Amino acid sequence: MSTMSFNSLRKILLLIVSIVVCWSFLVIETQASTGTVTGSVLNIRDGPGTQYAKKGSLLKGASVTITESRGSWLKIKLNSGLAGWVHVDYIKTSTPSTSTPAVSSVSQGATGTVTGSVVNVREGPGTQYNKKGSVAKGQKVKINAASSSWVNITLGNGVVGWISAQYVKADPVAENPVNNEPTPASSNDSSSKIEVTGSIVNLREGPGTHYLTRGQVSKGDQLDLMEEQNGWYKVQTSRGIAWLAGGLARVLTPPSAIAEEIQSPANPVPVEDPITPTGEIPLPGEINSNSETPSKLPGIARVMLDPGHGGQDPGAIGITGSYEKDVNLTIANKTAQLLRNSGVDVLMTRSDDRYITLNGRVDIANASDASIFVSIHSNSTTNRETNGTMVFYYVDQNIPAAVAQASEREQLARIIQNNLVRSLGRADKGVRQNNYVVIRYTEIPAILVETAYLSNLEEEMLLNDIAFQDRAAQAITNGIIEYFTSKGIL
Ligand SMILES: [Zn+2]
Repeated sequence: MSTMSFNSLRKILLLIVSIVVCWSFLVIETQASTGTVTGSVLNIRDGPGTQYAKKGSLLKGASVTITESRGSWLKIKLNSGLAGWVHVDYIKTSTPSTSTPAVSSVSQGATGTVTGSVVNVREGPGTQYNKKGSVAKGQKVKINAASSSWVNITLGNGVVGWISAQYVKADPVAENPVNNEPTPASSNDSSSKIEVTGSIVNLREGPGTHYLTRGQVSKGDQLDLMEEQNGWYKVQTSRGIAWLAGGLARVLTPPSAIAEEIQSPANPVPVEDPITPTGEIPLPGEINSNSETPSKLPGIARVMLDPGHGGQDPGAIGITGSYEKDVNLTIANKTAQLLRNSGVDVLMTRSDDRYITLNGRVDIANASDASIFVSIHSNSTTNRETNGTMVFYYVDQNIPAAVAQASEREQLARIIQNNLVRSLGRADKGVRQNNYVVIRYTEIPAILVETAYLSNLEEEMLLNDIAFQDRAAQAITNGIIEYFTSKGIL
């Protein structure tokens, strides 16, 4: 290769490298926004609206990457790679919202007096920000800046934070009274909200069906109410002002976001979460339920069975040559049949001899509406004497949703282990924790059963014995039913 063509090649390579570098920075930037789930059980949908199919759910505390925003819906991505849409009301973003109102400066030395009985002080101008303290009625605060609904204050102890403009009154200052008014006077109407009750509702340019449509809103969407006219609501949407038919929405009283900012003296403990004060999600379409009526049950009697290995992955191979993938599938299929006979819904990551990656199994579980995950395996070790039954669970301390389920995960493991040991009569090797992928990243309580050892000749024979397989399947079934019953699900 000549020097000249080498130089040209080098230039082209440099160009390619710089394009790739720039592109990867762009990608990182668009994925920088993250959020935390604030609702107890939040549905993930195929599209931005309740009319789209459900593809999974998230528990309170789960963290997500926000990749796109459309109306009241956010497109999110999970660590497992699963992507979908969730309602914005149940996600607390860790970067300030772009809809944060502009903050106006206030003249030096402005002060105000707290008018609410006990008012939360927050890290930013909105209820989505963390609470950092509270102020009491009559307390004097220094006013640093104000937006239309939030005021930045400094307390006597030097703490700086934000409080709702509704609960602080600017003190009159002789030299420049106009600039010291922290908030523009707002009518009562502008602080009201409506919630859409029709499944998909047209927004129109005026109060009547003869006006042109300006897009749609979905059931559960909340909009700021500006005024009411002839049975139509004038609302503020992300795309501007529009009207919608009053029969397809209801007025929320009191507005939840503002109401949370003032604590009733009778209830001195602040409400943790304005949207889900009782831990239930109020949106009818967004709670885990088969019907329009919100269910109080913690889940549904639906289990995801995961026969370990399959296809190109045989799993452990027994002393006489039996494959773990076959034993696991046989026991899992028998378990599925017994569960269905008992009225439990069964989903399976595989029900035939096929290969699925570990992350693929996690994705299948997380995209489903199953309430527990049971992986079925057979054990193996180099010591041929080792035998017995064990069940694994795992609680990743870095995944808040998993930590919140710690007792459920352990309880499910114990119940299944007890049933297996009682029925099979093999050595009780106990309930253990191990960070297997399929029980670590599944967002529902998940366990992994090691029925017996394929590396022990006696147990390999048993694992291939139909009566033993039936007893194992019945024990797992009984355990699952016992768990669901203890949770009030069955
Ligand atoms: Zn295995």
